[in-house]
Amino acid sequence: MIPFNIPAVTGKEHIYIAEAAKRGHLSGDGHFTKQCNQWFEEKFGSKKVLLTTSCTHALEMAAILLDLKEGDEVILPSYTFVSTANAFVLRGAKAVFVDIRPDTMNLDENLIEAAINEKTKAIVVVHYAGISCEMDKIMALAEKHNIKVVEDAAQGVMSLYNDKYLGTIGHLGCYSFHETKNYNCGEGGALLINDPALIERAEIIREKGTDRSKFFRGQVDKYSWVDIGSSYLPSELNAAFLYAQLEESDTINNDRLKTWNLYYKHLKTLQEDGLIELGSIPQNCTHNAHMFYIKVKDIAVRGKLLQHLKDNGIGAVFHYVPLHSSVAGLQYGKMSGEDQYTTKESERLIRLPLFFHMEEEKVLAVVEQIFAFYKNSTHTV
Ligand SMILES: *Cc1c(COP(=O)(O)O)cnc(C)c1O
Repeated sequence: MIPFNIPAVTGKEHIYIAEAAKRGHLSGDGHFTKQCNQWFEEKFGSKKVLLTTSCTHALEMAAILLDLKEGDEVILPSYTFVSTANAFVLRGAKAVFVDIRPDTMNLDENLIEAAINEKTKAIVVVHYAGISCEMDKIMALAEKHNIKVVEDAAQGVMSLYNDKYLGTIGHLGCYSFHETKNYNCGEGGALLINDPALIERAEIIREKGTDRSKFFRGQVDKYSWVDIGSSYLPSELNAAFLYAQLEESDTINNDRLKTWNLYYKHLKTLQEDGLIELGSIPQNCTHNAHMFYIKVKDIAVRGKLLQHLKDNGIGAVFHYVPLHSSVAGLQYGKMSGEDQYTTKESERLIRLPLFFHMEEEKVLAVVEQIFAFYKNSTHTV
């Protein structure tokens, strides 16, 4: 059996958790939380990084920070995880979905401007599979129309666009440390605040709407309720687990890239034969091997291939059901322009198993079963 995912463990997690317990501070913003925040700030060059309980919560903080309210509109892809939309819809904003590019499955930067109007407050980009959206073009558009950019970089930790880390390019960036992501602590996330004007309020929102962070820095002599907010601080136990992984970030990244490259080397012959399609990585992007996906002819072939892999003990999966045609998407959102690729491409995508320390023989076993499937069928794309 080859599972789809095994959460990464690099070796020191339990030691750091024991250390956190010994330090006697287990709630938020203790030693390890600060270590993690600082690690991202120093390595990635973000102005301020705050660990959160999830990427979903980092996105919710972003929506509060940008003062999203009833009647506002937010532009995002329909091909994404529900949290990208939910966070903004929770504030009363409308989700305006824009079609994706078939080569990267990312928001098509050339279709965004047509969706912008006087109600538009933000563009939320998703760096699918850890491969960047066309950020230069998107940031220029945002500046021209005076709107903010939030990067849902849940999948993009350690990836680069023009030598800049994903999550540090927009006004705000959001990371996920869910167990299915490259660096994990079970459940966790981070908000990157790249616009300094938003830092102080971000700290308040994350601390239940209080100025508790200022109090701990000695900037006020008592703390009180000053704004809306919620409890977005993770426990020190989660931060301790995560910090062990950050210290080994290159080990994890290189190991995943090795697996990704091995898949690519073998499966590109099937692409050359016109049987499958692989994602493309634009020139100015360096990816983090978050995901290896293939695209087959259509939904029928996908069903057959997934069944074949399952019958042979391989945990391949598909996602996402497009948001614009979902029950909540119809109620809280709308498509801008045509759905030329979102539905069509989403229906033919398969994600292959990829995790830290995936043995070479397992990768080859997955490859072998895909070849076996195409030996008996000629479903060209
Ligand atoms: C995983 C993921 C999320 C949600 O992350 P959580 O930490 O589980 O809340 C949001 N957006 C995208 C694109 C994701 O892949």
